[in-house]
Parts: sequence; C-alpha cells; structure tokens
Amino acid sequence: NPVSPLLQLQGLQIAYGGIQAVKGIDLELFKGELVCLIGANGAGKTTTLNAIAGVLPLAGGEIRYNGDRINAVPAHKRLRQGIALVPEGRGIFTRLTVEENLRMGAYTRTDKDGIEADLEKVYTMLPRVKERLPQVAGTLSGGEQQMVAIGRALLSRPRLLLLDEPSMGLAPLVVEKIFEVVQSVAKEGVTILLVEQNANLALEFAQRGYVMESGKVTLTGSGESLLADPKVRAAYLGEA
Ligand code: ATP
Repeated sequence: NPVSPLLQLQGLQIAYGGIQAVKGIDLELFKGELVCLIGANGAGKTTTLNAIAGVLPLAGGEIRYNGDRINAVPAHKRLRQGIALVPEGRGIFTRLTVEENLRMGAYTRTDKDGIEADLEKVYTMLPRVKERLPQVAGTLSGGEQQMVAIGRALLSRPRLLLLDEPSMGLAPLVVEKIFEVVQSVAKEGVTILLVEQNANLALEFAQRGYVMESGKVTLTGSGESLLADPKVRAAYLGEA
C-alpha cells in the first residue's frame, strides 16, 4: 500500500525501571520523508529513537514497520530489515580507520558487489570522508566523525535512518554541512527521523516535525508551521 506509513508508533511507552520516560506517543513516518523530533533536554527523544532501533524494550504500545508489528524483533534483525541508528555521540570506532569504520556498517551484508557500489556512493556524497579513508577515525574533527557515522549507517543500506543529534558539539558552519548531507540522503529515498536540540535548523530542513515535552508529543506539523508557531518559538528558538 503506497500510502501506508513506513514507520508507525502507536501509544508508545518506555520506562527506565519504574520511571516512565515516554508516555504514550503516536508518530508516523512516510517513505522518503525527513522528519524531526525536537524538544528540551530529557523530553524523551533519544529514548524514543533507541526504542525504534530495538535497543530499549517497550512498556506499552506498538511499533509498526512497513506494516508489521516489530515490538519483539531484536535490534540486529531490525538493522537487517533496514532500520539503522546513528547514536548520540556517533559511536564510531576511534581506533579503526575511516574505511574500516565504513565497512563495519556493511557487516550484515554478503553482497560484495553491492557493498562496493554503496561505498562509491558514500564517497560521492561525502568527498571529505573519501580523502581520509586510511586515517584513524579518532583523529578526525567532530564534523568529519559525524559524516563517517552517517556513512557507516548508509553501508547497511537503510530504508529508515535514525539520527540522534548529529549537530552535537559542532560549529554552526559544520552543522549546516551535516544537514545538507542528511538532506541529500533523504533525496536518495531514505526515510529519516532526526532528533535535534537545534530546533531552528532541524525545522528548516525537515518536512515535518514533532515536539516532545516530558515524554509526550505536544505539537506536530510541517517544519514551516512549527517554525512559525509562537509556542515553539518561545520554548525552543530563544524568543520570549
Ligand atoms: P537529551 O537531548 O538530553 O538526550 P532526550 O529528549 O533525548 O534528551 P532522553 O535521553 O530520552 O531525553 O531522556 C528521557 C528521560 O529518561 C529523562 O528524564 C532521563 O533522565 C531519563 N533517562 C534516560 N536514560 C535513562 C537511563 N539509562 N536510566 C534512567 N533514566 C534515563
């Protein structure tokens, strides 16, 4: 069905011990969309992303992917099904080279030719990364490391890419570059859910957005409408 969502969260609840971090959220993501999840520190954004990737169990509700309920599918199988996570802090292997990091992203695949073709695609998309293939990843700048992390995720050939705060700790110009990369990935047809503290830029680049507060979705709409919303402007864009 072309109009059914690629990802659908229904009444999602996630708890750490007895503490509910996500209190029943609904979210839909359609193929090829770039959607952002914004909100203050501790709102539950990272928790939501990790639950979609399968690294956190649910306390209630449903995750549907491509129409199937995947609540009980373990993280490594979700990766094989096309759900890739770039975690907060990037999670690259700092002692491995850039090329080794990228190839690690393809570890679930056996199609050698496909992997080489995808590497070439990533090199085209990320020329800076290509220039640094033999370099130990830990010696790259923060922005370059973020690009390697995104490149590595692309090597798993994702249909759904989950990005957790790719702008963290980066200078504004570098953040802009990263967002351009994210947008080009979306244009290739990869569906993207982007968690961001940098609400302004995220809403500029995303087609739609969800605002989370204390474990709930409090607002949703097009990037444009959220950017113009006085509540969003007051809470996240530094306007009184
Ligand atoms: P941030 O941008 O700071 O990561 P966030 O919106 O992503 O914020 P989460 O990291 O998802 O928020 O945190 C949501 C809530 O869950 C917070 O109250 C946080 O303290 C709590 N929490 C997160 N991780 C854990 C954990 N491992 N154990 C216990 N509580 C946690």
